[in-house]
Amino acid sequence: MGRIVTLDQNMINMIAAGEVIERPANVVKELMENSIDAGAERIIVEIAGGGAKLISITDDGAGMSADDLRLAFESHSTSKINKAGDLEAISTLGFRGEALASIASVARVTAVTRQRQSNQAHRIEIDCGEKSPVEPCSADYGTKIEVRDIFYKLPARRKFLKTANTEFGHISKHFTRIALANQRLDLRLIRDGREVHRLPKGQTLRERIEELFSRDIAENLLETHSNEKGIEVYALLGTPGISRTNSQLQYVFLNGRFIRDKFIAHAVKEAYRGNMDPSRYPVVFLFIKMPYSEYDVNVHPTKIEVRFYNSNMVHSQILGALREKLLASDLDTMAMAPRYQRESIGNEVRDTPQQAGQHGRISKAMEDFFKKYKTPSQRQFSFQNASSTKTGTSGQKFNNRNPSQKQQIESEEKPGFDYRPRDKYLQIDDSYIVAQSDDGFVVIDQHALHERIIYEDLHKRVSQNNLQSQKLLIPETLEINESQKQLLNDNKEIFDKIGINIADFGPRTISIQSFPTLLRRAPASDFVADLLDMLAEKAVSTDSQNLLDEVLHMAACKAAIKVGQRLSDSEIDELLARRAEVDNRSRCPHGRPTTLKFSISELEKQFKRT
Ligand code: ADP
Ligand code: MG
Repeated sequence: MGRIVTLDQNMINMIAAGEVIERPANVVKELMENSIDAGAERIIVEIAGGGAKLISITDDGAGMSADDLRLAFESHSTSKINKAGDLEAISTLGFRGEALASIASVARVTAVTRQRQSNQAHRIEIDCGEKSPVEPCSADYGTKIEVRDIFYKLPARRKFLKTANTEFGHISKHFTRIALANQRLDLRLIRDGREVHRLPKGQTLRERIEELFSRDIAENLLETHSNEKGIEVYALLGTPGISRTNSQLQYVFLNGRFIRDKFIAHAVKEAYRGNMDPSRYPVVFLFIKMPYSEYDVNVHPTKIEVRFYNSNMVHSQILGALREKLLASDLDTMAMAPRYQRESIGNEVRDTPQQAGQHGRISKAMEDFFKKYKTPSQRQFSFQNASSTKTGTSGQKFNNRNPSQKQQIESEEKPGFDYRPRDKYLQIDDSYIVAQSDDGFVVIDQHALHERIIYEDLHKRVSQNNLQSQKLLIPETLEINESQKQLLNDNKEIFDKIGINIADFGPRTISIQSFPTLLRRAPASDFVADLLDMLAEKAVSTDSQNLLDEVLHMAACKAAIKVGQRLSDSEIDELLARRAEVDNRSRCPHGRPTTLKFSISELEKQFKRT
């Protein structure tokens, strides 16, 4: 061992950088937080090469004087706290005074800043800790910080960086958290010259969620608000129908700061207990406000964890607020019957006119069916072979049933619906199958069930490395662009795993040589195109196991029997036979139910026969 020496400041900063700056995304987070602390209303984030090449953050905040600009990049320099007492109630996102110094010790940094009231802007350049003098320049008010070639003098760290896609995924994750926590901000995220997100100020939270995630998520959130015992809770709670396989879509913000906290995660899980498959994670956006003095943020270098002084109270307030809302929302019904059942039980869920029409027809058909089913003289009612005219989506009435069927029960009702009678099954709207069960009957969503069957099959075979793939007689070709080509290379393992074999076929064309037998219902080139789209969106932010899972979900969805597809009795037979063999058959891979059960006693109740 050598002699002990005191490290110079730049070494200290580089070591400190190891704690906070693990990858480009951390730089983006720290710089955006600085902009917010500086009172910015607008932040533009530009990224090149996944952030390894360039990260540029431009804000319209307070700016810095020449002196402050010089100091800002010194370690332990901050304008946010100045005495020990301040640490007890930190209201800013930053306070450690380390971020800029750390960042500047591991990259080439340029900062340009101007205070609003001043007409002189200033600029400083720092190359891995080597500072240039501060010089006057001209610029708009606010601050622009550019960070280039991160870790270029630290080959070991640089090597640790993943592909541009992955690094951008991390950046996008932090951007999303900040965008959700700071609704009033006007935010843009630009990647390699292309605008990825534009979030204008004044957007509602739901609009923001729709832009950042999807419409499906934005439209399936229950809102709740409570303010008790000094803890204000505002939450958008995902319905069970949009639950996930992991907790990635659980966002918790404490006074505007994204945090992870096991007590809060537990409270969320508890709140949903009994309303959701316990192996799934609800989508939750939770905003907590409480006095800064009630918790400590100075426990983790990236401040993602905090210490509550009274964690039991926080737990019980959150659990109480969420649980109350979830219990009041009749989630069971929403989970079990996301679409059609709502109407018949008189829930106040509004539908689009088109949905309403469809619901009307379906519930009418079911009502008809219930009545026939329960006719005492015809307990074992079997449908006779009547016409099988297809019902148009406009819900045309169909009126030419064979007279023997119209006896008794039907005399009391309006004539009405083409239910295409069959020997054993009833297929409603070419989408739902009604079949008898031991104590009543079941209604099956043909797409959801088939999706689950294929998913389980795929899952099993992929994990046993036993997915059969078929060489295509005539390889299908597909045109792709540069970034798709990159995606193909980056995710080759996934394509291999699911048995899709691809060869180059000209500069911008690929040819699909083989394709999994299980997915034969999906056209190969469409499937690969969709898969590339999905990877473009997901590969960046998802780890490999979850990504594979997402791919299997998508594959199952694409290869499954569609809604609106007429099935023969033998196809239905086969579907139901396979149903008996699969695990998790009562829900599709997205967590929606595949099967609704109706017992005779339930029918009797509904028809007030008891
Ligand atoms: P901290 O945020 O913990 O104070 P930083 O190293 O991130 O430490 O920043 C140091 C200081 O530089 C801040 O306290 C602030 O005064 C100033 N600063 C950083 N970024 C900006 C910005 N975008 N606009 C105005 N001032 C800034
Ligand atoms: Mg900071």
